[in-house]
Amino acid sequence: MKIDVLDAGFIEAIDHLGDDLTVVNSARVSFGKRKTVYEDGDRKLVTYLAKNKHYSPFRHMVVQFHIKAPEFVMRQWYKHVVGIETTNSSATKDHAWNEISGRYVPVKDFYKPLVWRQQSTDNKQGSGEDMPENINQECQEIFDNFMTNVEESYENLLKLGVAKEQARTILPLNQYTEVYWTASFQAIMNFIELRTEKTAQWEIQQYAKAIKQIVSEIYPETTNIWFETHGLQE
Ligand SMILES: Cc1cc2nc3c(=O)[nH]c(=O)nc-3n(C[C@H](O)[C@H](O)[C@H](O)COP(=O)(O)OP(=O)(O)OC[C@H]3O[C@@H](n4cnc5c(N)ncnc54)[C@H](O)[C@@H]3O)c2cc1C
Repeated sequence: MKIDVLDAGFIEAIDHLGDDLTVVNSARVSFGKRKTVYEDGDRKLVTYLAKNKHYSPFRHMVVQFHIKAPEFVMRQWYKHVVGIETTNSSATKDHAWNEISGRYVPVKDFYKPLVWRQQSTDNKQGSGEDMPENINQECQEIFDNFMTNVEESYENLLKLGVAKEQARTILPLNQYTEVYWTASFQAIMNFIELRTEKTAQWEIQQYAKAIKQIVSEIYPETTNIWFETHGLQE
């Protein structure tokens, strides 16, 4: 399942491990039991686990995503270091990320905001109201002039034979990048909780909302229960 996000980004689940029964059977192994059909009792069990923070059974479900997002979004995303491995001492703890390399591949796409937001007055990190139309237009012109200059300069450096790894030093944070992110259901829920929250940046919220839709399709019962027990319904 692939969802377009922002003007040129996307998120796609390219692989996953397990289904709704995975969490059930991971918990029921304690009793030496394994189910093949999801029943009402399983719903109760999973609700109990989610409510009481018995989270380890939720870590047997894993999704591999292909993401295309602006670099400034990925910088925030990279702060989520817990993927499939949650043991602090493990060397593989944060090895669930791989990214396209601007040393190999010239950067092509840049995010262009269409609506400019004012600085929030009550949240030093956040945005407030949208800019009035006339100022929005002025912001757009500043952006367009800057980007034309940046893109031409980057191209010119490449044409002169400058290494891609060095030419990219002039590129701004709105450059699109592509990554693979593999994370457990629990880590994905943590991402959704933190990044759909209203103080998270609007752009990363769009990705978190798309992920919400994707995991709801892959693990409908478990996702629904998690959202209910953690107050994450829309
Ligand atoms: C609105 C917002 C604003 C932010 N602003 C900033 C900012 O200004 N600067 C900045 O640097 N970051 C900022 N962050 C990033 C934030 O501090 C977290 O690094 C990021 O959200 C990842 O969250 P996490 O640690 O829960 O995720 P993960 O790394 O996926 O961790 C998942 C969970 O695992 C557990 N865990 C992880 N590591 C450990 C550990 N070592 N020991 C014990 N338990 C652990 C925790 O329960 C954690 O919630 C911001 C985040 C948000 C949502």
